[in-house]
Amino acid sequence: MNPIDLRSDTFTLPTDEMRRAMAQAEVGDDVYGEDPSINQLQERAAQLMGKEAALFMASGTMSNLVATLTHCHRGDEVVMGEQGHMFWNESGGAAALAGVQIRLVPNDDQGRISPDDLAKVIRPRGNIHFPPTTLVCLENTHNRCSGGVQTPEDTKRVADVAHAAGVKVHLDGARIFNAAVALEVPASALAEDVDDVSFCLSKALSCPVGSLLCGPQEFVEEARRWRKMVGGGMRQAGVLAAAGLVALDTMIDRLADDHANARRLAQGLANIPGLRLDPERMPTNIVIFEVDEAVAKGPEFIRALLQAGVKVTYPGQQSIRMVTHRHVSSQDVDEALARVSGVVRGLRGARKAGS
Ligand SMILES: *Cc1c(COP(=O)(O)O)cnc(C)c1O
Repeated sequence: MNPIDLRSDTFTLPTDEMRRAMAQAEVGDDVYGEDPSINQLQERAAQLMGKEAALFMASGTMSNLVATLTHCHRGDEVVMGEQGHMFWNESGGAAALAGVQIRLVPNDDQGRISPDDLAKVIRPRGNIHFPPTTLVCLENTHNRCSGGVQTPEDTKRVADVAHAAGVKVHLDGARIFNAAVALEVPASALAEDVDDVSFCLSKALSCPVGSLLCGPQEFVEEARRWRKMVGGGMRQAGVLAAAGLVALDTMIDRLADDHANARRLAQGLANIPGLRLDPERMPTNIVIFEVDEAVAKGPEFIRALLQAGVKVTYPGQQSIRMVTHRHVSSQDVDEALARVSGVVRGLRGARKAGS
């Protein structure tokens, strides 16, 4: 049985066009700023995000870390949502390497944080007892909040509170193009009110490697030094940038297909007794649902899905995550739903027989 891999859009493979572009890429030493393909990608990224400049990074994690290093000093406080990727999934880099303290505020079901919650936690400057709040991190789309999206207005409301207090705003836009496609706005509109924004090439855009950190010229120049310090100064990295340029030309519009498949998947899952989710809350390519304990404990359910040929990831407790991407067709979605439904029936039957 062919496994259907719904673990992540990071499993997407480079296209033939990307491989050809990589083979033919013009390259140079990027640490000296002399890789023409990197320079072209950085210009393109900056333009797409409406920022002055951009810097090629090895990963989204590196972009977020370097943004934190660039904006903050050791002992500063950084505010983010309690479901933030930077808090959950980046190995504690903000604390370990940037030396900042993270202050969490609630996320709503789309991954937004409320301007009022933010206003309450920003620390006044000039008190030697307090770590100064210097950065707020937002995330769009929001990974752990089912690929939730924030509109330009949502972002502006939060950014205005931060900026009024002299606090910078970093947007982790690993999947910003998914948000742009879902909301039918240019990505630059989603980044307009933040100081800097990062996005990933290596997720649904199907590139093998890469992320871009975009912001004002001066910020990017400082970030370049931090990137070197953490080992991200790559040399003939234009072979990677070449794939990125193809991705920006060919991979953005098709994200709508992933979203349609995710919707189909979410609606199908909602019809399976024992699984809980609200399909209306999942506007992009990430579907997160809860499995009843009466069906199985989370880890047991995941093992059974794997045996039935459905690969998923596990955010914790009774939650299961499925992500649609370029290698998942609508037929695959239907087949995955049939398999999941069979697994749920099987587990329920086994429970009944056992009790
Ligand atoms: C994947 C992801 C990252 C990190 O990207 P890597 O390239 O895997 O390091 C950061 N933020 C969010 C929201 C992500 O989904």
